[in-house]
Formats: sequence, C-alpha cells, structure tokens
Amino acid sequence: MSADPAPAPAPEHVDVLVIGAGLSGLGAAAQLREHHPGRRVAVLEARAVSGGTWDLFRYPGIRSDSDMFTFGYRWRPWVGDTALADGDLILDYVRTVARERGVDRLVRYGHRVVGADWDSARAHWRVEIDRDGEPVTMTAGFVHCCSGYYDYERGHTPELPGIERFAGRVVHPQHWPEDLAYDGRRVVVIGSGATAITLVPAMADTAAHVTMLQRSPTYVLSRPGRDPVAKALGRLPRRLAFPVVRWKNILQAMAFYQLARRRPGVVKRIIRSGVTAQLPAEVDVDTHFRPAYDPWDQRLCFVPDGDLFRALRRGDASVVTGTIETFTEHGIRLASGEELAADLVVTATGLRLLPFGGIALSVDGAPVTLPETMAYKALMLSGVPNFAYTIGYTNASWTLKADLVSEYVVRLLHHLDQRGARSVVPVRDPEVAERPFMDFQSGYVLRALDRLPRQGDRAPWMLKQNYLTDLRTIRRDPIDDGVLRFA
Ligand SMILES: Cc1cc2nc3c(=O)[nH]c(=O)nc-3n(C[C@H](O)[C@H](O)[C@H](O)COP(=O)(O)OP(=O)(O)OC[C@H]3O[C@@H](n4cnc5c(N)ncnc54)[C@H](O)[C@@H]3O)c2cc1C
Repeated sequence: MSADPAPAPAPEHVDVLVIGAGLSGLGAAAQLREHHPGRRVAVLEARAVSGGTWDLFRYPGIRSDSDMFTFGYRWRPWVGDTALADGDLILDYVRTVARERGVDRLVRYGHRVVGADWDSARAHWRVEIDRDGEPVTMTAGFVHCCSGYYDYERGHTPELPGIERFAGRVVHPQHWPEDLAYDGRRVVVIGSGATAITLVPAMADTAAHVTMLQRSPTYVLSRPGRDPVAKALGRLPRRLAFPVVRWKNILQAMAFYQLARRRPGVVKRIIRSGVTAQLPAEVDVDTHFRPAYDPWDQRLCFVPDGDLFRALRRGDASVVTGTIETFTEHGIRLASGEELAADLVVTATGLRLLPFGGIALSVDGAPVTLPETMAYKALMLSGVPNFAYTIGYTNASWTLKADLVSEYVVRLLHHLDQRGARSVVPVRDPEVAERPFMDFQSGYVLRALDRLPRQGDRAPWMLKQNYLTDLRTIRRDPIDDGVLRFA
C-alpha cells in the first residue's frame, strides 16, 4: 500500500505585499518598515531591477519635468539645487533611499503578479505570481499596488501608413536600443509630448538635423533647470531649506494650475509671450505652439532653461506641424506634400495605459470589473477589501500623492490593529453619481477611460487632483468615515 502524498506546503504568507519596486513601491515599503516594523512586508517586482520608469526609459535626455523638491519623497530631501533632474540621478536617488531604508532587501525580482483573489473567510489575498516563468502562490493580509500606470511591454504607436517602405530605422523611446548611433543622421521625432520635447534638443547636439513632427501643438514652458530659491538658500542646513523650497514649488504649481483652469486666456497669453520671446523669427508661434485646447486640459510640457528653443534658434532642430500621408523609402511625406528626409524615425507617440499592472483581481472568486468599481480617495476601490493603489497626480509631482497614499496605508493598518479588525472595504453609496476616472484630455488617458474605475461626484469618491485638499482628506480626516466597512 502506498502512502498518501504529502500535502502541498501552505503558500508563504506576508502581512503586506507591495507590488512594484519603482519610486512608489520602494517609498511605500520604506514607510511600512518605519511605522510597522513588526509586520512582514515583501515587494514583488516583475523586472530584474528596481527603479521602474527611471530604469526602463533610456532615451537621450531622459529627465523629470517635475521639480525634484516635490518629485523626491517628503521624508528624504532632494539634495542640491537641480530642479529638473536627469533620469540617472533620479534612479540613483530612488535606489540610494531604498538602500538607506533597508527596503532593497525586501524586493523579490522577476516576480510578476498576474492575479489576486480576496478570500473573505480567511481575510487574506491569494496572489498568483509568474516567477520567471514558474507559477508561485503567496498569501497576503493587505496588498498595496504600486505598478505604475502604463504597459512596460509595449508603448503606443498609432498606425503609420507605408511604414514598411521606409529603409531607415524606427525606434520607440520606451525601447531605446543601447547601440543606437545617430551622429550625423537626419532624425524625425514624431510627437509633441514631454518625451518628444526632451528628445529633440538632446539629439540635436550630434545629429545632422532633428525635425519634430507633430500633428498638433502642445503648450511648452521654459523653467529654470536650477531652482533659484534652492540656490539662494544653499548655505542653510538642509532641514530648514528643503521645506521652504518644497512648499514654494507646491504652492507655485497649484497657483499656476488654478489660474489656468479659471482664467485660461491669461495663462495662454503668458505661455505665448514666453514662447514668442525664445523662438527664432522664422518659426510661427501660432502654427506650431498654439494648441486648440486650454492649458492643463492636457499635461503642460516644461523645458529646462529653454533648451528646445535654443536648438531651434541654432537651426539644429526644426518643428513641422502636419499629418503623415505616407512613409516613403527615404522619409515621410505629409498631406501638405512636404517631404521630410530621415535616416531614423523616433515614434514618441506615447504610452499604453495599463491599470493595476494588468493584474486580474477577484473577490471570493468573482472577477473585479474595474469600470464597475468606484475609486475611494483615489487610493482604494469600492468592494475590494484590503487593497490600496498608488496613482500620482497628473497636474503635479506624482510623489506628492504617492507619499500621501503610503501614509494612509500606514494609518489604515494602525486603525485595523486598534479595532482588532482584519479587513476594510469601501462601500459604494448608490446616491453618488458616476464620473470618468480622470478629467484629462491626454490621448493615453482617453484611450483607456472605459477600462478604468469610476470616480464619484462628491467626497470621498471624487478625485480632485489637489494636494491641499488631499492633505486634509487623506492625511488628517478620520479613517472611520462611515464609508469604510471593517470586519
Ligand atoms: C518618461 C517618463 C517621464 C516621467 N516624468 C515624470 C515627472 O517628471 N514627474 C512626474 O510626476 N511623473 C513623471 N512620470 C510619471 C512616472 O511614471 C512617475 O512619476 C513615477 O516614476 C511612477 O513611479 P511608480 O513606482 O508609481 O511606477 P513605475 O515607475 O512605473 O514603477 C512600477 C513598477 O511596478 C512594476 N510592475 C508593474 N506591474 C507589475 C506586476 N504585475 N507585478 C510585479 N511588478 C509589476 C514595474 O516593473 C515597475 O518596476 C514620468 C513617466 C514617464 C514614462
């Protein structure tokens, strides 16, 4: 008689599972480690390295277009006066902080979370993981999803008519080849967003010529690469200077955003006069730099110390506004009949939004359909217990929101402890009317809106994209607000 096979070992259990080892996930893990030292925390990262966005994107000139005093963590000051920092400095900052806080040791690389099912009876998540091709299961008391907002595998490329005829090379900035040489080459960058505007001056230094080909213009503003107030306060101890510079930048950005929403005509004139002053005479501001929408309907683009305009003035770069009729063997023909010769085409045409890292969520075996959920404080989902997520602001530094969400998770876990509760879930109120998740017209958001959760028409379901409001609703308001149900 053969013995019964040994029962499968129980899956490994952690108290909190953070998904993603980018800026948000590492920050969240650092906060958990500091405020919940007794809890077992693991960070699962699909890639082989940390840093997320700041490791993935390797195109020339990659940098932040938020200032680093608000893009860095509140609890770990950014050093120096560099306001818009290069990608490698940001990556170094994120990894240094992870090392300092001991969270680099919590990360398990090559662990892609593919599914997570909440088990109400056991009050835990059963998490399905693809560990370098091998299926693995873990359980977790709480999941904090910090998976960013876009698909790491594929960027967005619209249909490019006749692309197969083009004899040169075509590259998407999300997959920049290490060996790509463009010295002395004619480059066309398709796009007008932050990536295109970064790439053009960076490539213009060594390329024969760079043409930025855009279908329609974007608002472009020049801002100092070094923060003048940080420079002026350089001699003060960091603990005094940092909050001053940080709050100056928070309030300045909020004031500018509010002015743009309330008096768009005024902000359009301010932006236009800045652009006109820096453009060479032959570049028509109305054709190339006057968008059809209002400022902040889409993200504004910031250029450090006017580097884009300098490249245009030098003649190393030019901007063309038009529609592609077809690619030819040697370049691109526009609907206007104009031909752009190219050896290399960069499709800076954007990202594909991917909510929650593509993880299939379910509750007691019933799949969660995201558009049927409502976002609670833009950090939890109605009907989904013990689950928080970080999605940053579109009109301010991502990290301002990421820090608040991490703090909230810390507070929420303390609250669970105090009540002796094991689970918490936002319960939707049928009186609250639905609205799209984001009031934002950028292409990558519009393309994905029907796959995203909804927001509501009132607090705490409304997404205000306002740091001062969130300081109250996320940091200070009582956890127990009658909307969260504890069990
Ligand atoms: C080129 C570029 C420039 C940007 N510049 C700015 C800026 O200047 N200011 C600003 O505020 N924002 C900017 N952003 C937005 C930027 O993504 C965020 O600011 C920030 O880096 C996001 O950090 P994150 O950790 O939330 O996400 P990410 O950096 O995207 O990291 C997410 C991590 O989660 C991992 N992951 C995803 N899914 C899974 C899964 N299923 N299982 C396991 N791991 C998973 C990924 O591999 C990745 O490591 C920029 C974005 C891009 C693409």
